[in-house]
Amino acid sequence: MSGRSAPARSPRLACGWVSYAVTRAEAENEVARMRAYLATLSAEDRRGWSPEGPSVEKYVCMGCGRREFRPARAEDCPDGATTNPVVWEG
Ligand SMILES: [Zn+2]
Repeated sequence: MSGRSAPARSPRLACGWVSYAVTRAEAENEVARMRAYLATLSAEDRRGWSPEGPSVEKYVCMGCGRREFRPARAEDCPDGATTNPVVWEG
């Protein structure tokens, strides 16, 4: 998902990238949903996806790959910024 502005519970890493938090259960549900969807596609339609497909292990900071976050402040994330989900239940 992308295009979300920072919701209240979004964390942010020290590296400067803003992410939004989901629980591990939410991430697992989304991964299962995406895997089921990808299974309906032809090999050609799956070309844009990595061979290993969706994984909860990918719910980390897209900037640095880390998993430690601090709460974001409103000014951390400009309107219209693209953010990605990370597993964070802190
Ligand atoms: Zn980072």
